[in-house]
Parts: sequence; structure tokens; C-alpha cells
Amino acid sequence: MYQSKLFYKTLKRAPKSVEALSSALLIRAGFIDQVGAGSYSFLPLGLKVLKKIENIIREEMIAIQGQEILMPALTPKENWQKTGRWKSFDVLFKLKGNNKKEYALGPTHEEIIAPLAKKIILSYKDLPFYLFQIQTKFRDELRVKSGLLRTREFLMKDLYSFHADQKDLESYYKKVDKSYSNIFKRCEVKTYKTLASGGSFSKYSHEYQAVAESGEDIIYICNNCQLAVNKEIKSEIKKCPDCNQSKFDQKKAVEVGNMFQLGDKYSLPFELKFQDKKSKEKPVIMGCYGIGLGRLMAAAVEVNHDNKGIIWPEEIAPFNIHLIQIENNKKVKQAAQKVYMDLQKKGVEVLYDDRVDKTAGEKFAEADLIGIPIRLVVSEKTLKNNSVELKNRDKKKVCLIKFSHISQII
Ligand SMILES: [Zn+2]
Repeated sequence: MYQSKLFYKTLKRAPKSVEALSSALLIRAGFIDQVGAGSYSFLPLGLKVLKKIENIIREEMIAIQGQEILMPALTPKENWQKTGRWKSFDVLFKLKGNNKKEYALGPTHEEIIAPLAKKIILSYKDLPFYLFQIQTKFRDELRVKSGLLRTREFLMKDLYSFHADQKDLESYYKKVDKSYSNIFKRCEVKTYKTLASGGSFSKYSHEYQAVAESGEDIIYICNNCQLAVNKEIKSEIKKCPDCNQSKFDQKKAVEVGNMFQLGDKYSLPFELKFQDKKSKEKPVIMGCYGIGLGRLMAAAVEVNHDNKGIIWPEEIAPFNIHLIQIENNKKVKQAAQKVYMDLQKKGVEVLYDDRVDKTAGEKFAEADLIGIPIRLVVSEKTLKNNSVELKNRDKKKVCLIKFSHISQII
């Protein structure tokens, strides 16, 4: 991508209303644009990151036998009335159509997926199975803040599992836990598995919390085993349930994922049943598992930045390499152009700063703000050595790489 053609603009300062550091950086670096309170456009740089996160999640879901589907965001009132959540879900986004019918914009999809599964599941032979989607969700929050951390509209991965019994649910729950670890590791966001208030079928649910100054949650991390407890239930828990000691560190954190054992909470109202081996009808046992993609992106910035800007983790960076051409003479331009073409041929994603109206200092400052992991500079000076200058975004050291060795960088 030629930077001269890229649709973006960097800013010296983020709007005052944006409190969270991550969103302020993302706005300043031209990844997102604030449309209104709690709603953002993803610009080309931001969408590239979001898509990479989406693909990591998709790969890991498929690896645990998840099958991808897409349900509607606009959902009928009747489904929500069946479970009582039309009234009890306090941030349900409700709206009326021209036909006077009422709808909810889905904040989660148990009310849609349970009747869907009912059309397909008949016997124990159909179980277990696992469905997920990556879709925009809505929450009619009274107050939104912290940029991407709390929005009225957000992209979420929601996975639902369907089992014949509790034991099978518990064994899959562990697989999802492992899968979540992989996802957060690949996005380089350290998370703490955190106990939170449960549903009707387990004492606790689990959240995945990333420690961040802009976080809205408070968690208590066990000094010994790193299990964390959400503040909402801390008063119930004096000692760590895993290792039985009582020293915890209090931290601000961002919830990037969660897992719930739903049991038959949604199977019963929708009569989602199966016939067991003895032809006896039983309710299907369900679990649900969410990850907020925008939040994960914001959390990645919360934990990977310095005072100059973002430092993208390799797997979710918008580009692999930021190639910068300094001095606008024919030789430098030709050499930079060749490096650009060679890397592209190898399938490396390159943002090529080909702009002629910016100083080297301006280009470097912007490269640091945008945060692509590897910076390559082509200048008169490097040309004399038949080289490009390489610098990793997270390191101070620069070194020269011969043109003939560029293909070995990535
Ligand atoms: Zn512990």
C-alpha cells in the first residue's frame, strides 16, 4: 500500500471526550474515527487489524470443531418474551418497525440459536455440536465511555455449545479455555482467567481480563496461582478457590472474553430436547462463550504501546513492514520501489511511505505512532552501502541489511 494513497489522517491530539488511552491512540494514528458517543468507524488501518483478529479467532474456533453461521441482528420480540429477557435484559436495544412489530437488536443470541438448534437436533447422535458467529451486537447503554471499551454497537464472536449432559459440557468448556489462551497469546494480550458471577448452572462464570489502566473492571489476582476474582464477587471469596491462600493484587482490567455454563436455561423455554439412548426426552445442555473483537484490539493497544505510539503485536499488525523512503531523488525512489515490489511478491504486507512532502522526522514520528513492527528506511546513505536500515518498533537499535538479504527479514 502506498502511504500517499492511504485513507487516513494522524492527529496531534484525540478528542477530549475519548478517555481511554487505547482509543485515543487509535484515533490519533488514523485507525478509527469517532462517529458519536459509543460508535466508531474503522478506517482501512483499523479494519485490517480487526480482520486479523477475526481470522485468528475463526481459526481457533474451527480448531475446536466450531462451525460458523450468521444469525440476524434484528430479532423478533417473541423470542425474547419466551425467556423473559424482553423485560429483564436492561440494555436490550428495542425498536418498532413500520408494521408496528417490535424487535430487539441482538446483544447475544441464545434466543435465536436455541430454536434454530431445535430444528436440527433430534437424538443423542446429533450431539455434541458447536456453532459460532462473528457479528455486530448492540447494547442500549445509558452511558458509554472509554472509547472502544464500551460501545453501543460492537463486533463479537459468540460460540454456543450443545451437549447431552453436564459432563460433556465441562469437558468442552476446558477446550474453549485452551482455545481462548491461544487467541489471546497470538494477539499478545496477557489475560487473567477471572471468576465472575455465574449463571443458574454453575457457581461462577469465567472472564478473561487484561490488566489495563483504562479498564472499567476491578479484579483481584491471586499472588500465588494468578487466578483472578472479579470485584463483583470478591466479597464472597476470602481465599483463592484454586490454591487456598488469601493474598490478592487489585488491578484495573478490561474484559475481553467470557464463558458461561448455561445448562438448560435456554433449552427449556424453547423446548430444545433430544432423545437419549433409551428414547427418553431430555433437555439439551448448553454453554456460551464470547469474545469482543474491538475490545481485544483496544486491549492489545493498552498493553503494547509507548509514549510515541502503538507497538503492534506481529500477528495483528496492519502491515508487516513500514518501508520509508527518504529524500526524493530518482535513485532512492527506484531502490525503495524495488524493495517494495520484491517484498510484495513474497507476500509480505508493506506500507510504503512514498510521500514527497514530508520530512524524515515527520515520517519517523508517524511510523512510531502507527506502530508497524518493522521499519525499513531507504536513503542516500543506506544506498551507499547497498543496504536498507532496519529498526524494530519495540527496540532502539538500528542496523543495515544488504538489499540481497531483505528477503530473509520475514
Ligand atoms: Zn491461587
